[in-house]
Amino acid sequence: MSQQERFFEESEKKAFDKAMRQKIETSLSNYQKNHALGLTQFENLALAKERASYSRWRAIESLDKFLLEFENNFARRGGKVIWAPDAESALQELENIISALKPDEVVMSKSMATEEIGLAAFLEKKNIVITETDLGEYIQQQAKEKPFHPVVPAMHQSVDDIAALLHMDAENNTAEKIAAETGEKIRPHFTASSLGITGANFLVADIGAVSITENEGNARMGTSWPDVHVVIAGIEKVIPAVGDLEVLLPILATYGTGQRITAYNSLLLGPRMSDETDGPKEMIVILLDNGRSNLLEKQEQRQALKCIRCGACLNVCPIFKTIGGQAYGTTYNGPIGAVITPIQVNSKDYKHLSHASTLCGACTDVCPVQIPLHMNLLANRRDFNEEGMAKGQEKMMWYAWKKGVLDRKKMNRGAGMKNFFLKTIFKKPWGERRTFPEFAPKSFNELWREKHGDRK
Ligand code: SF4
Repeated sequence: MSQQERFFEESEKKAFDKAMRQKIETSLSNYQKNHALGLTQFENLALAKERASYSRWRAIESLDKFLLEFENNFARRGGKVIWAPDAESALQELENIISALKPDEVVMSKSMATEEIGLAAFLEKKNIVITETDLGEYIQQQAKEKPFHPVVPAMHQSVDDIAALLHMDAENNTAEKIAAETGEKIRPHFTASSLGITGANFLVADIGAVSITENEGNARMGTSWPDVHVVIAGIEKVIPAVGDLEVLLPILATYGTGQRITAYNSLLLGPRMSDETDGPKEMIVILLDNGRSNLLEKQEQRQALKCIRCGACLNVCPIFKTIGGQAYGTTYNGPIGAVITPIQVNSKDYKHLSHASTLCGACTDVCPVQIPLHMNLLANRRDFNEEGMAKGQEKMMWYAWKKGVLDRKKMNRGAGMKNFFLKTIFKKPWGERRTFPEFAPKSFNELWREKHGDRK
């Protein structure tokens, strides 16, 4: 089955899964309340978004300069930087690290980049015990599912679902009890692991630091206890200066979860120094390209590299709210995933995602770093058509449509005829569960002529 067929099948199933949609709605209505409160911290929200966008844009436009600056500054304090052009080379580098370290256990902290390269499956094959230490990721690990949402990985699971999944008794059916009990289970793994793997929210070029933002303290533990800390970060994560965090951290918190600021914000400058008591003996950053250069090549869609993975565009997207995260079958879902996946992974298998949008523009409006997401989706559609990727049937459909709408006589034909053609041409994409809209008995042109005659 092709990715497109899988997507249509899953989308149809999920769109009619009322229980799932109810859970998403509950989660998102809580988010919206918190988000509205969080926004009140910005005296001038438009300016804050402008500044966040500018910082990200400046970095993306000079990635070569800022990545080298980051590497030099990070290496100066004993850190090591490895450049990985694709997922395979990133995994090969990890293989080298693992062969030398021989860890029995690894602690991981929430990261989309590790999802992207299939790290968990890679480590499992080596019989290494892996513990996802972020609560949402831990839940998804137990469920053997990919994250549903970049910020709320288990958004589609209710408290009862989670308690059942984690084999907790009925008494523990509160979010707080589940979090406390799960924390107890996770904690021993921090000290038992000699390797901690995380992503990065930002790579700060001017001071050579890795910025990690989290709410549970798990990333802090997972980067301090193990002997070796490996960061896997996309090359687009770099920002020019530590001062940029002044706006990026509150923006990320408010658009991600509705907080004013996330509970733990760490800046990691390298491995433990000789006069320090905490931190890993070795710290390695793997800079991952994995298709990001394809995005960089595209003058319009390049803007998507500004993304700070706050998830806000998913939260307002009517498609995401209807089909959920897993129907996409990709690491990055929702509007941002629909823009980047066909370019970053491949257009042949994923070009259909650029059509998974109503083009309402809600994603563009909400994006705190001003990515014109719906325009980028249109640019993808245009590019894929120009590359000759439209199917013969699709071309025929649009050819017939164009012929019809440009012909006044045809447009003024009776509604019965027009309804017949519409239903014949668009029957399959419209689906069987929705009622087709009916043409009005008379066209606008006919009504106008009746009222005003032939006068223009
Ligand atoms: S595209 Fe914008 S709104 Fe969507 S996740 Fe990225 S930063 Fe957030």
